[in-house]
Order: sequence, then structure tokens, then C-alpha cells
Amino acid sequence: MIELHHVTAGYSDKPVLHDITAAFQSGELTVIIGPNGSGKSTLAALCMGLVRPMEGKVRWNGRDLQSIPVKERAVTAGLLSQEHPVPSLSVRRLVMHGRFSQVPWPRTYADDDKVLADRALERAGIMDLADCSVAELSGGQRQKAYLAMLLNQDPEMMFFDEPATFLDLPSQKHLEMTMRSLAREGHGVIAVVHDLNTALKLADRILVMEKGQIRFGGTPEQLLASAIPQEIFGARIVPVMVEGSTEYIVKEASGHSGHSDRPQSGLSETPDVL
Ligand code: ADP
Repeated sequence: MIELHHVTAGYSDKPVLHDITAAFQSGELTVIIGPNGSGKSTLAALCMGLVRPMEGKVRWNGRDLQSIPVKERAVTAGLLSQEHPVPSLSVRRLVMHGRFSQVPWPRTYADDDKVLADRALERAGIMDLADCSVAELSGGQRQKAYLAMLLNQDPEMMFFDEPATFLDLPSQKHLEMTMRSLAREGHGVIAVVHDLNTALKLADRILVMEKGQIRFGGTPEQLLASAIPQEIFGARIVPVMVEGSTEYIVKEASGHSGHSDRPQSGLSETPDVL
């Protein structure tokens, strides 16, 4: 579990997040959503220890994060970020680095490490890329290589910052299913996403951020019943049944003046309620 207690945090001496109190649990898929610049990525970085609190505390399983040695942190939390370095390594070797903190020095990988890396490559759907160089990959393939590295790291808490960037539609669906099954297996899964439809379909719990603060925390049903979609996204959400499962049509709320940084609904046409 990762807990934030009245945290203010930002860059240099400029706060971006203000008085954040929240908890992220194992076995739960939390989606963080909000307008551009509202602090979603900074919140993920703060939870990971990549941004230090100016005030307040970040606790991992009850321990003050600042007191946990960096080497130990990889067991508890990992991040699939939006930007990836491009090392001159094969994809398999990159994925094996996911267990870096668990392989004793000098780092010689045992057969078991290779089996685990192959399992992660399989799960990320890129076994065919195992022997390619990371430098040769497309943006989407690189995203999947780093996903496989995170799967191989296998931390208790997994953060995904806009993970669908670069991915085609089938790969996005595959990733969503992977995140859901990781939560079912007991991982805490926290995803920053930019469209409401995905948030509503994917999440056990949704946090809505605005201007560096958490404006809402609750289930998709509670979000649908609240005024938040209208107030923050200028949107009206219409649940529809499509082939036996619920989809959400995100419509511009009538009379809304518009929010220039509003997240995209992901839909250009909005059919009538079915
Ligand atoms: P979001 O993920 O919701 O789009 P971010 O957390 O990326 O928002 O950014 C929140 C605010 O922090 C923005 O005003 C942004 O300009 C600022 N910010 C983000 N990263 C940095 C950084 N590395 N240095 C300085 N300011 C940053």
C-alpha cells in the first residue's frame, strides 16, 4: 500500500501538488484522470519517490519512503513512464534488467532469470522481438518492451503513466486486460489515462485531479452519479449497452463554455443512446 499524507510537492521550489491525501491499495486498479497539467504524472512520480515532498509524508507499507534505501524500492513499486531511454541492448536483456535489484553482484543471470524474462516477454506479446535491439523498435514496440521489463520486475505496486501512448487499438485492449489481470492477481495498479471512457470501463476506483488537487475519489458509479464530469470535463456521460457490455458515450454538456485542456473523449461521433 502507498499512502500520501497532506503532501505538497513540485519542481524546484514551485509546488504543483497541494495537500494531497490518498491511499493506493494492492489488488485494486485506480485510474487517475484530469485535465492536462492538473498534476497526474507528478502524483505518480511522487508515489514512486521520483519527486520529493515539500511537506507531508509518503509511506510505503507503513514506512516513510525517504527511509527506504533506493535498492529496496524496486520490490515495492515500478513505473511504466511515457518516455523511455533507448539503450544499445537486446529486448530480452532490457527485460532482464527488470530484476536488477534482485540479482546479486556481479550480475550473472541464472536460468531462472531467463525463464522469468521470457514469461514477461510472452505476457507483453513481444516474444518475437526478444532478440531485436531496443534502438530498432517503433514507439509502440518500445512501450511493450518496457512493459515487459515492468512485468519482469513484478513489484507490488505498478504505475502506468499514459500507457496507451504509441499503442494501436488491439495493443491498447491487450494492455487494459493485462492491467486488470495484474490487479486480480493482487498488484496495486495505478494508471494515468486521458479519456473518461477508458477510466470508467477500467477502474475499480477513479481519482479526478484538477489544479494539483484531488477533486474526487470513488468508484466509476459514484463518479457517474456526481457533478464532476460536468464541472471538470464539461461532459455528460451516457452509459450504453454494446454487445452485452457497458460502454460510455462522453458528450459535451449543453451550455458548457468549454475547457481548452479538457481530456479527449476519444470519440468524434456520439451516437444516440441504444
Ligand atoms: P498532467 O500529468 O496532469 O498533465 P503534470 O504532472 O505533468 O500534469 O504537470 C503538472 C504541472 O507541473 C504542470 O504545470 C507542468 O508544467 C509542471 N511540470 C511537470 N513536470 C515538470 C518538470 N520536470 N519541471 C518543472 N515543472 C514541471
